[in-house]
Amino acid sequence: MQFEPVIGLEVHAELQTRSKMFCACPVVDLTTAEPNTAVCEVCAALPGTLPVINEQAVDYALRVALALECQVRRVSVFARKNYFYPDLPKGYQISQYELPLAQHGRLWIRTSQGERAVRIRRVHLEEDTGKLTHVQRDGETYSLVDLNRAGVPLLEIVSEPDMHSVEEVRAYATALRQLLRYLGVNSGDMQKGVIRFEANVSVRPAGSQALGTRVEIKNLNSFRALEESVAYEIRRQMAVLEAGGRVEQQTLGWDEARRRTVPQRSKEEAHDYRYFPEPDLPPLQVDDAWLERVRAALPELPHARFQRMRQAYGLTPAEAELLTAERAVADYFEAAAQAARQQGVPTKMVVNWVTGELFGRLNREGLRIDEAPITPQGLADLVALVHRGELNKQAGQKVLAEIFARGGGEPRAVMEALGLRQVSDADQIEVWVAEVLEAHPAEVAKYLAGKESVLNWLFGQVMRRARGRANPQVVRQALRAALEARRG
Ligand code: ADP
Ligand code: MG
Ligand code: ZN
Repeated sequence: MQFEPVIGLEVHAELQTRSKMFCACPVVDLTTAEPNTAVCEVCAALPGTLPVINEQAVDYALRVALALECQVRRVSVFARKNYFYPDLPKGYQISQYELPLAQHGRLWIRTSQGERAVRIRRVHLEEDTGKLTHVQRDGETYSLVDLNRAGVPLLEIVSEPDMHSVEEVRAYATALRQLLRYLGVNSGDMQKGVIRFEANVSVRPAGSQALGTRVEIKNLNSFRALEESVAYEIRRQMAVLEAGGRVEQQTLGWDEARRRTVPQRSKEEAHDYRYFPEPDLPPLQVDDAWLERVRAALPELPHARFQRMRQAYGLTPAEAELLTAERAVADYFEAAAQAARQQGVPTKMVVNWVTGELFGRLNREGLRIDEAPITPQGLADLVALVHRGELNKQAGQKVLAEIFARGGGEPRAVMEALGLRQVSDADQIEVWVAEVLEAHPAEVAKYLAGKESVLNWLFGQVMRRARGRANPQVVRQALRAALEARRG
């Protein structure tokens, strides 16, 4: 029998506002901040304290909701989700439940099958919990509590069960992370735990519309864990069904080391949480004016930008993917491409220089695009020098390397300073060719005896004599001509 996987994702994304969701504590980098240094009476849940809604967090949430084409509720309600856990000082989490901020949206994804929209079920605001670290000391296990994360604004984005392959899951997670970064609400830094996934996975007979029994895989902190655990569950559930068994509904974790899912505590039902409206907070009201302000300030969104840039610059899908992955990269490329266009340089050359030479250098130096020592205009000027033949490609790479080494510089000035201006002068090149042929009579003889491959070696010798500055096309012509002349 053929089976179809069905997957729905719950994504938790921190909203990287300056302060926490309900108090004035700063949102800090958990991986570098000293534990429990960003904690006050409110997020430590001392008796008698009261929460206050962070307006900026709501603003960020609205950006995401609108970018996901959701319907935004004008009045949404915070609720208490009651449970006990050592990382939850209040004994409850403030979340949204029955009346979430936004619903019924969609996210565009691109896979090898083309593009499609995955439906978004809901987007709601909540607060993060603290973080536990389990340590062994003197044969005992201790759990250390860091409350720096307690109360950090968290957005939960829940999809419909609309995905049917690991590839779609990856595309969805990638597109959502990219969107959050474009909107400036989340750094996308997976290693710092600012985005976490939960995957709901079931399998059903192909062609069936009914949903099979699902499992929920919790605490997936990387793309790799997400993809591997979903792939594992699809395989496992298919095997169970093929053997005539039934899939059990359960909550699972992902065992990174053994690369398999493992059962966790049995899943709470909603009624276990004893949800009720948060009595310490008023309903959250969002009026039209606020929504319109947020809508008007949205940047061009990644999917639209992908399509527009493909069209406008004749990019391949892979190039467009690379050049729109980050907003800063797309901005840089477009500025460079436009500056180059004004100098009559083909866009294709700019694409190659940005994705090849520039990305390569940035990678090697560990720099982000906004830290590049060459401006988009500078890159366009450099590519124009190569296009016009004033620099050959290798010399152009040297100029770029020098600009990186100096931490800046204007391409033409650097070219002159390094004496790299390309020599296209045929007389000069013929002199170099003659000197090389004079110095290597044995190789010349081999070539004349029919060994064509020697030509490349001789070419290399001429370029070396020219210290890389010679125009390669002129060198090839001159070399062939000089060799043919010796055939006599
Ligand atoms: P909860 O996890 O709190 O029970 P929901 O019931 O709303 O929340 O579902 C959570 C996620 O599970 C959603 O992303 C939804 O698309 C997905 N989901 C629900 N049923 C299935 C199913 N049978 N197979 C796969 N995913 C499912
Ligand atoms: Mg869930
Ligand atoms: Zn606080």
